[in-house]
Amino acid sequence: MSGPVVTCEVDTCTHWLPGNLCGAANIDILHEEEGRMAEQPEHTECKTFYDRRGVSSLLGSLDNVNWTGLVREPFVSGRDLTPTVTCIVESCRYWRDGDLCEADEIKVTGQGADECQDTNCGTFERRDE
Ligand code: SF4
Ligand code: SF4
Repeated sequence: MSGPVVTCEVDTCTHWLPGNLCGAANIDILHEEEGRMAEQPEHTECKTFYDRRGVSSLLGSLDNVNWTGLVREPFVSGRDLTPTVTCIVESCRYWRDGDLCEADEIKVTGQGADECQDTNCGTFERRDE
């Protein structure tokens, strides 16, 4: 199963690219507070966020780059450059066994974020009990 297409508005992240693309190979979506089930988008976070301000953060994030997507992106606009998504937010209606996300697309929000907690999966919708 292929995961959702990811768009992201967090332009302070090392992985962020113009066009609201994410150049990471994989992103991890977590509950913002450990042990507390998310009930709204603000309770989630993109744990793969890496503050782009500072050279050490850039080097630290190079092992999680979608190089194939980066090379192909100029030729196949918007289609290949999307990370895989690992999500543990079971309280979301799109969550499926295996830490998968069943949404067609997700939008990561949190423009100007300084840390992971400032980011959210804006597509989160609470699962009906
Ligand atoms: S915040 Fe997450 S989705 Fe957005 S660019 Fe960074 S790693 Fe990718
Ligand atoms: S839409 Fe739901 S299942 Fe998909 S990544 Fe966001 S929080 Fe996780």
